[in-house]
Amino acid sequence: MEVIKMELLCIDFINSQWYKTHKVFKELLKDEKWFKNFCLKWNLSITYMPNKEMIDTLLGLREFLSYVTNNLCTKKTIDLKDINKINEYLKAFSFYKMIEKEKDSFSLKTIPVKSDLSFILFEIISSFAELITKYDIQRIKLCENPECGWIFYDESRNRTRKWCDNTCATLIKVRRFRENQKHIQRKSK
Ligand SMILES: [Zn+2]
Repeated sequence: MEVIKMELLCIDFINSQWYKTHKVFKELLKDEKWFKNFCLKWNLSITYMPNKEMIDTLLGLREFLSYVTNNLCTKKTIDLKDINKINEYLKAFSFYKMIEKEKDSFSLKTIPVKSDLSFILFEIISSFAELITKYDIQRIKLCENPECGWIFYDESRNRTRKWCDNTCATLIKVRRFRENQKHIQRKSK
């Protein structure tokens, strides 16, 4: 089985509501260390930790994106009112382009007018906009482990991937095997 993991900022952000072991032990968005690493990983240069109001805004965005993605996975579409809400988010940001000189080339960068939390919100919502416009929405899936809430992008050739990662795949396979064993034992009694 091919396991390719496409990484997207919005998927990482939505999945942050589930701890790595798939149990919510604490809110990662309130964990300074986690948040710093998250920003570092996705090039979201912020020099301070978000205050309570900002965290609430991020939590609100995550709840909304999570709801939209769940709809997308089950209904394979997004309601127009939700698309309008995404557009409201996108409209709320202003930025400009700037050329930066590098060693022996130039690069065009997008610079937010205000370099604060709105930049993070914009990057997350842009990443989500990219996901639903540039990628195959049929491949956006919810992990089939009922105790897991992770979403993932199925890059397998036949779109047959069911689990977010090997942890869930193994867990469910072992559980099914045990259930089958019980079934066999009951039959033989
Ligand atoms: Zn999973």
